[in-house]
Amino acid sequence: MSLTHFNLTTKLLERHQQQRFRQCKTHDSPQSATLIHQGQTYLNFSSNDYLGLANHPLVKKAFIQSAEQDGVGSGAAHLVCGHHRQHQALEEELAAFCQRPAALLFSTGYMANLGVINALVGRGDAVFEDRLNHASLLDGGLSSGARFSRYQHNDVDDLQQKLQANDSLKKLVLTDAVFSMDGDLAPLPQLIACCQQQQAALMIDDAHGFGVLGNTGAGTSEHFGCTVDDVPIYMATLGKAVGTFGAFVAGSQELIDYLRNFARPYIYTTALPPAIAAATRQSLRLIAQETWRREQLQAHIQIFRQQVLAQGWSLMASDTAIQPLLVGDEQRALQLSQALADKGFWVTAIRPPTVPVGESRLRITLTAAHKTADVQALINALAELRTNDV
Ligand SMILES: *Cc1c(COP(=O)(O)O)cnc(C)c1O
Repeated sequence: MSLTHFNLTTKLLERHQQQRFRQCKTHDSPQSATLIHQGQTYLNFSSNDYLGLANHPLVKKAFIQSAEQDGVGSGAAHLVCGHHRQHQALEEELAAFCQRPAALLFSTGYMANLGVINALVGRGDAVFEDRLNHASLLDGGLSSGARFSRYQHNDVDDLQQKLQANDSLKKLVLTDAVFSMDGDLAPLPQLIACCQQQQAALMIDDAHGFGVLGNTGAGTSEHFGCTVDDVPIYMATLGKAVGTFGAFVAGSQELIDYLRNFARPYIYTTALPPAIAAATRQSLRLIAQETWRREQLQAHIQIFRQQVLAQGWSLMASDTAIQPLLVGDEQRALQLSQALADKGFWVTAIRPPTVPVGESRLRITLTAAHKTADVQALINALAELRTNDV
């Protein structure tokens, strides 16, 4: 049987015609301030390795030592025989780090979101999502069969009205804590008050806050001083600021016991390699100890915003490592990305359908691995592009 009647050709052609056909660009370097592509070295301003830990010698050492000792594959799902001492230790350390009673590891953030949402709500229940939520939260909500509504971005009044108009018994509010394409924070204190008043449960996805925000790096929840009662479901990923791989959910012991028994993407998948857990444990220690990484990142953000705004570019209202430069037009975003590449900077253009039509942008990310001179070089390149009106 061939796939002719599946219309792949038509759909691909359509993507080509829209100039939205996407391909991976292969690189040959570890995550760091630089990236090597086809023999050329670029300064990398697209990585989510916000603290520069993905290639840290101690994290690598922990990974190698554990691989030597514990092997590579975990061999089975957690509930079968895949749950290694390294996973157990990491779950306990993550819970302590987040000041929550318990935590559960997932193999990816995407699976964590699908798993949690589908375990908690279904037909007859209701989910409420910020319209700029990450695709995995949206997909989780849609696949659950619960009534699905999206509220205006960070608009607590709109959420309040939608919650009030809904008489479902179980209401689940879902939000990115740091929005992945805009870099702004969810207004957690207001969301918490609204959810408490409307008897809705709040789940936050802190993929871009964990490790980076809060005094100890425990994320957006710590930044706003929220407890487990305020934010009963805290989810974060390990592949971004933590520099390794995987994700976790932290909350009450009861929530975690429940998810371990009912979250299908937890139950029916192979556990992460134990060495990933060992590397993550080391990374957590560095996040706690090396506060200079968060400080360096903050300093970069200040310099970048101040100077790029002064050049007349439009940046979005973000104080985080995600500093989108709003362009609007898709083709212009591609053009600018290429012009920066020609100058030796790797900056990805983000276009529909990832962001709304007319909101194409350069998603610039700053990291603790950058030197001040690297950030200054990007600022200077942007100034030249501005002057020459590329
Ligand atoms: C990256 C990301 C995810 C997915 O996490 P993975 O571990 O990469 O699957 C989920 N939510 C948000 C907000 C993200 O940015």
